[in-house]
Amino acid sequence: MGSGQVTSSVPFEFQGKHVTVAGLGVSGVPAAKVLHGLGARVTVVNDGDDARAREQAAELEALGVTVRLGDGATLPEGTELIVTAPGWKPDKPLFTAAEAAGVPVWGDVELAWRLRGPGAADWLAVTGTNGKTTTVRMLASILGAAGLRTAAVGNIGVSLLDAVLGEEEYDVLAVELSSYQLHWAPSLRAHSAAVLNLAPDHLDWHGSMEAYARDKGRVYEGNRVACVYNADATAKPSTEDLVREADVEEGCRAVGFTLGTPGPSQLGVVEGILVDRAFVENRQKNAQELAEVSDVDPPAPHNIANALAAAALARAYGVPASAVRDGLRAFTPDDHRIAHVADVDGVAYIDDSKATNTHAAQASLAAYESVVWIAGGLAKGATFDELVTGAAKRLRGAVLVGRDRALIREALARHAPEVPVVDLDRTDTGAMLQAVQEAQRLARPGDTVLLAPACASMDMFTNYNKRGDAFAQAVRELGA
Ligand code: ADP
Repeated sequence: MGSGQVTSSVPFEFQGKHVTVAGLGVSGVPAAKVLHGLGARVTVVNDGDDARAREQAAELEALGVTVRLGDGATLPEGTELIVTAPGWKPDKPLFTAAEAAGVPVWGDVELAWRLRGPGAADWLAVTGTNGKTTTVRMLASILGAAGLRTAAVGNIGVSLLDAVLGEEEYDVLAVELSSYQLHWAPSLRAHSAAVLNLAPDHLDWHGSMEAYARDKGRVYEGNRVACVYNADATAKPSTEDLVREADVEEGCRAVGFTLGTPGPSQLGVVEGILVDRAFVENRQKNAQELAEVSDVDPPAPHNIANALAAAALARAYGVPASAVRDGLRAFTPDDHRIAHVADVDGVAYIDDSKATNTHAAQASLAAYESVVWIAGGLAKGATFDELVTGAAKRLRGAVLVGRDRALIREALARHAPEVPVVDLDRTDTGAMLQAVQEAQRLARPGDTVLLAPACASMDMFTNYNKRGDAFAQAVRELGA
């Protein structure tokens, strides 16, 4: 970890500037409005030209914003700055043209960062392949318990632009950042930041694991107090490697979190207690008790890791130990993230529909001793050998649904041939009820039936929420 120049955000004069906003939608429309309000000459370009886009375009045009639908590739004449939706891939022709013309490209996070006023709230930033939303919400709960004015922002709750420009005043923000957002946020400098974990995801967008890790690692750039990393991670590059590569402010510390006994400058777990050996006096000898494992809901290993990361960021901000405990106790998990739906005949039914990739499913499978696993959907290019190998001894059975279920079936045949598998060749609305009924047949008292699909849901459902709702509904029908 090197210490580098202090790079504060550069003030940018928007009055009269030609700004191109790339992409309508959740970030584009508010960005266009804000920029227009600041006196910029805004053109929005959008690939699509459907009814929704036309509706949004009409709303913006009424304000005086120019909108070009059906062509997101050509750089509008005179553009001085592009503000892009985070999901736009860096290899798009628009960005190639911008680079050739020397036009900077900002994402929604960069824009929010640049618009912070004097004395603005500090940002405690969280990224990682899985656990971001949970950790950021835990962090906000802890900061709130310490009496700080705060909010969980990013993909959840308040939008970043609203948090920065709205009426509400904050002391500190708990900010969730995706790898896409980080890619487009070159001058972001958080007070402290955590990368929770790193597993292959979105590689089609980033181009390679190295590029994905590099974008995640940007969250550490310019940190002032602590770079929080996952000391248990074995994959390369590790989150600790990313800390080492980051250019941070003088005195900023690397702080690890571990599910084991913490070393100096780490947070970890000792006999069921979350302890801090980083933000204490004489950390060679001392440790501070923060909370009990049972204060974390649910107390599954990956979620304890999330709690430790949240605690590390809160402690970096100077929050007392009692607020960590109170904040964790006050926290309730979001829907569809290891949500306990019901017990039926001695079998627990758990909805982790949000486990949309193999790394997340691996974490939730590891939390239970004996599992009937409901999985499948859209694999997004993933392979399942490692997941199945790791979970094999816990599997009572598996019920497979969705378009790419054959990939999981084949992995089970290779690595867990003794596990009974039910393969459901249907994608209609009744499929989830049948899946749950089949899982009930396979389960024995004491088992867990776990929906952790390791896949996206859009082959059968509008989104993972709807998939989880269908599961919960099916479980209720069993109970009835
Ligand atoms: P994100 O915002 O990164 O998508 P969430 O907090 O919404 O993360 O959790 C998504 C899913 O990822 C959860 O349902 C769970 O299956 C899994 N998960 C949560 N935390 C972790 C973690 N620390 N490591 C691995 N998987 C996790």
